This record gives sequence, C-alpha cells and structure tokens, in this order.
Amino acid sequence: MITRLSQLFLRTLRDDPADAEVASHKLLVRAGYVRRIAPGVYSWLPLGLRVLREVERVVREEMNAIGAQEISLPALLPRDPYETTNRWTEYGDGLFRLQDRKGADYLLGPTHEELFALTVKGEYNSYKDLPVTLYQIQTKYRDEERPRAGILRGREFIMKDSYSFDLDDDGLKASYEAHRDAYQRIFARLAVKYVIVAATSGAMGGSASEEFLAESEIGEDTYVRCIESGYAANVEAVVTTAPPAIPFDDAPEAVVHDTPDTPTIATLVDWANSALDREVTAADTLKNVLVKLHHPDGNTELLGIGVPGDREVDEKRLGAALEPAAFELLTEDDFKANPFLVKGYIGPKGLQDNGVRYLVDPRIVSGTRWITGADAPGRHVVDLVAGRDFTPDGTIEAAEVRDGDPSPDGRGPLVAARGIEIGHIFQLGQKYTDAFEVDVLGESGKPVRLTMGSYGVGVSRLVAVIAEQQHDDKGLRWPAEVAPFDVHVVIANKDEGAREGAEQLAADLDLAGLEVVLDDRKSSPGVKFKDSELIGVPLIVVVGRGWAEGKVEIRDRFTGASDEVAAAEW
Ligand code: ATP
Ligand code: MG
Repeated sequence: MITRLSQLFLRTLRDDPADAEVASHKLLVRAGYVRRIAPGVYSWLPLGLRVLREVERVVREEMNAIGAQEISLPALLPRDPYETTNRWTEYGDGLFRLQDRKGADYLLGPTHEELFALTVKGEYNSYKDLPVTLYQIQTKYRDEERPRAGILRGREFIMKDSYSFDLDDDGLKASYEAHRDAYQRIFARLAVKYVIVAATSGAMGGSASEEFLAESEIGEDTYVRCIESGYAANVEAVVTTAPPAIPFDDAPEAVVHDTPDTPTIATLVDWANSALDREVTAADTLKNVLVKLHHPDGNTELLGIGVPGDREVDEKRLGAALEPAAFELLTEDDFKANPFLVKGYIGPKGLQDNGVRYLVDPRIVSGTRWITGADAPGRHVVDLVAGRDFTPDGTIEAAEVRDGDPSPDGRGPLVAARGIEIGHIFQLGQKYTDAFEVDVLGESGKPVRLTMGSYGVGVSRLVAVIAEQQHDDKGLRWPAEVAPFDVHVVIANKDEGAREGAEQLAADLDLAGLEVVLDDRKSSPGVKFKDSELIGVPLIVVVGRGWAEGKVEIRDRFTGASDEVAAAEW
C-alpha cells in the first residue's frame, strides 16, 4: 500500500520544541514521530510507530532465533510478589503505585523478574522441561527522577525483557552467552555503534552483568576502556586497585595545626605549602564527605566517606555502591543537629568518636599519611596515618574515575567516554527462584532449584538512540532496517504528466515489495524537499524538471549523493 503524505496523519514543525535539548528529541518531535503528553510520557504518531515496530521486529526475530518464546504479562501487578522479594520497598520512589477500589495495592511493572519466576513455577515441574527462555515486548513504568530527552528516558517506555531458567550454572552461562550474541546481532542490524561494558547489578541483585552502551556524547553513562587490554566497564563498576600497604614505624607523629580560613582543599593546600617544609598537593589531603543514607527498612544513617582530596565523589558511583540504600547530601539543618560535624574541618576522629560509620577510598591503605580535618574550626591535622591513627570501617568505590587512571587489569591507562544504555544482561542466579521456591524434580528424583538470568533491551529508547547517532543538521537518517519507509517519492513538478508518472512509479515500487511514501501534496518543492530530509527515509526519488526527458533524481539520504537517472531504468 502506498502512503500518501496528503492523507498521512502528520504535521511537521518548523521550530524545535522548547523543552528539547538533544538532537534526537528535537527531530523526532519536529518530524512528527512522537508527541509529549506529560513528563516522560509520549504518544507515537504514524511515522514513529512504524520505526518502533521495525525495532520490535528485529528484536523479536533475534530472540526467536535463540529459542526464546514470547509471552505477555500484565503491566498492572499486585503488590504481593514484589513484597516477597522486598522490591516493593527497595524500588522506593521509582515505582508507580496505585490502589484498586477495594484498597488493595498494585504497581505498574518496572521489570518483571518476580512474575516470570512465578509463571515458570506455575507451569513446570520436571528437569525435562528445562532450560526455557521466555520474553515479552511490553510497556514498563518507572517514575524516573529526571525523565529526559523525550523517549530516551521515559516514565512509560517499551522494553524487551527476557528471562532464562536453567538447572545449573553451566546452563545459565550458556543462556547468558546466547543473549549476548543475540544482542550483538540486534544492534548490528540496527546499525547502532556500541560497546559492551562490565556493569553493576543494581537493584536487580545477582552477579555477572554487562551493559550494552550506545556511543554518544549525550549519554548519561560514563564508561572507561583500556585500549591495551580491551577492558571496558561502566564507571559504576570500576574497581579501584589498592596500592600495597606502607610500613609506618618511622612515620612522624600526627600534629594538629591552626589553619585559619582553610575550609576548602585549595585553601588547605596553600596553607600546607607555606607552613610545612615539603611540597603538598591535593592528593596529600583527605577529604571527608558526609551523606545521609535512607535504608529500605526506613532507617536513616549518617555515613562518612573519605577520598583523596584531588578527587571528587562521583554521585553515580556512590549511588551504585550504596544500593539499595538511597543517599542525600547533608542540609544545614543536619549540620546543626550534629554539632560535632564542623563543616570544612571534618576528620576521621570526630566521625568515629561519634559513632558515624566511615568508609574510605581503596587507595587509603594502611600506612598512608594524610592532611585532614581536626574536627575544630580552623584546625587540621598533619601526618594522620591510616591504620595507626584511624581505622576505617571499610572501603567504598565512590571517588571519580579519571582519564588516565590505571586499568584494573594493570595493563594500561583508562580512557573515558559517554554512552546510552541500550541493553543489560544479568546472571541473576537464585535470588528470585529462592524467593519463590522455584524447584523442579531433578533427574535423581530430588528437587532442583532453578537458576535465572534476566536480559533487557530498551526498545523505545533505541528509536531515540538511532536518531541520535544517525541524524544530520537537516533531519533524521534512518538505517534501511528500521526506516518508516523504503522510498520517499516527491512530486516536484506541477505538470499533470509528471504527476501521473510519479503515481505510476510509486505503484511500480509498491508492486516490487517496497514500502513507499508519496509526497502528493500541493506544497512547493522546497517545502517537500525539506520535509523529506527531516523525515529521513533512506532513499528519496524526485520527480521534477527532468521528467520531461523521462528522468528522475535519486537522492541517498545517508551519503547525500544524488543522481539523475532514466525513470524507466530505475
Ligand atoms: P538506566 O541506567 O538508563 O536508568 P536501567 O539500568 O535502570 O537503565 P534496566 O533495568 O537494565 O535499566 O532496563 C533494561 C533496559 O531498558 C535498559 O538497558 C534501557 O535500554 C531501557 N530503559 C531503562 N529505563 C528506561 C527509561 N526510563 N526509558 C527508556 N528506556 C529505559
Ligand atoms: Mg541497567
């Protein structure tokens, strides 16, 4: 069937939407693919829906090819299963919760591990039934703190989520590898440039996990790579290499100094360089950051974090390290309520004397010497030795990872870049099958607890990611596999013969099995050309002035190349 622009439910916009910052968001709105309904909630108009369906098709084909079976669970879910795994609480504000008319609690599913575990438990009871992988392509709900960039980070979005069930670890590894391979095929077909990085498991639980990150400057994830070794990890998952401990028998005594007006690292370093007879840099200082933890059980706790003064605390790394607890920075009121916290002069001693848990960066090993706060206004302590003068309660991966830091495998420096998470694969193990006692009768006649994997692809997000990676300053540029149409025929000649010729050409292309959109509107050629570039179909055929000589112009939206050819030949 030929789609006619004169009839298509489409209005392109000349101006960027006021709330849009990134190119994909601007273009998908301007080209009439999506429309905003509320923060992070979008409608799909005909063109957008076509691309979305194409992405779904590719994902579905590759999932089916690894033997995964499609089912569909509700998005509206009872509280009970999520209570069993404690995720009703752990998910915190991210969960959309509601009540039915009888007052029973429900949620809108953010991800479905619980329900898939229960579904398998309900149907299967013998080892002969295993392994099995089930998936769905379904709408998910998360009350994201910062919905962003249109459909890139929505509060309602479409995910492909699959779940593997195996009898043992080897089976789980095989299912995981099958997904890893399938994802590589999916993203290759979608022409997405991406990297696979080691990841943390977050609220999901479990052990091994990797993320697929689309390379993009506007990504919210930072990852690092070691060119020499091929190591790649989300910064959240980078494990700092601790240096060896240093003997401290000969270390000088810790001495407290008056250091007036030195509440920042920079002012402290200036003071030290004038007062001490050695050269001091920010890396010689110990910065203590206080956060307030909110634990899932409702308790709150103060936590002190010590990092070398030349590094910032990376809030995403800190957040990942503290999960499932959430954290916030201290307010003025918190400082008032805890007078032992002397802002700008906090030291390990004051924290530990007052029962505040104190975790440090892994570089702060036994024997390292620090200049740090002495818990009194305008006072710092010099030569405070870890393991001698203070003993932290443990380590935490909270300090920023920087370009040039050594790779954890010791084989070279790290290089940082940004990406957008498009897929995530987890070896969950038995977290969920334990919670719901998902057992089958094993070969030996004894029950076997199943082991589980979970695997997500951001289907709606991919539409934005492809737009983000492929657009140019004129508009969208879809790869053939997901384009809303194969060919965009533009009638750019008022002549009746040309119009008829274009109609015939479109009919021939349609007959040849191509998806054709025909711009048969009364608008000027200029408007039509602009729209064709904005909409981004890979091939544009212009029936224009050359028609008199039986010629059409073929434009390649990707390369920008154009060619006059005889219509009959084409
Ligand atoms: P993010 O770190 O981006 O918030 P996540 O780690 O919470 O993602 P998962 O739970 O791993 O996401 O979900 C699987 C996939 O679903 C992600 O890899 C991503 O592509 C997609 N996804 C997650 N959240 C959103 C969202 N708010 N909008 C669109 N897609 C999303
Ligand atoms: Mg993830």
